[in-house]
Amino acid sequence: PMPTVAIVGRPNVGKSTLFNRLVGRKLALVDDRPGVTRDRREGEARLGHLLFTIIDTAGLEEADSESLAGRMRAQTEAAIAEADAVLFVIDARAGLLPADQPFAELVRRADKPVILLANKAEGGAGLAGAYEAFGLGLGDPVPVSAEHGEGMGQLLDALAEVL
Ligand code: GDP
Ligand code: MG
Repeated sequence: PMPTVAIVGRPNVGKSTLFNRLVGRKLALVDDRPGVTRDRREGEARLGHLLFTIIDTAGLEEADSESLAGRMRAQTEAAIAEADAVLFVIDARAGLLPADQPFAELVRRADKPVILLANKAEGGAGLAGAYEAFGLGLGDPVPVSAEHGEGMGQLLDALAEVL
């Protein structure tokens, strides 16, 4: 069976942009089941020779809801539980923010292979942010740009090691 990879991180780091890049329009599908999985998207991804199911997490359609943090957490936990590997994404330009920490904690607890992605690093931007991300204890950050498609070779190498 195809392995499953979950994309995890706080809102606005570029998870959905990465999802779209890995899935491509043709294979994208939207999962609109109710409950914590409502905002979740799952698709068939291809990166180089690797084929895998990819899960995007944490839509923000009800950003005013008090239960939003709880729902995002539950959704993230569910995605991690299903995954063979986790892509933990931070925004290298913003650096490490307090909002990253609860997601990092869930990832740490999961005891699954984690690839730390420092996104928005196109053209060598965000080096300081990537350096900060070392402090998470989740390994060496891989600088990528989901929007511009940079660092995909390094992401492929990292995924190929754990899938
Ligand atoms: P999500 O909330 O984690 O799913 O993040 P999104 O994929 O919705 O992206 C949030 C914002 O970051 C959007 O404005 C994207 O265009 C932007 N973004 C995503 N990836 C990149 C990137 O690689 N570089 C830059 N500069 N912006 C990005
Ligand atoms: Mg998103």
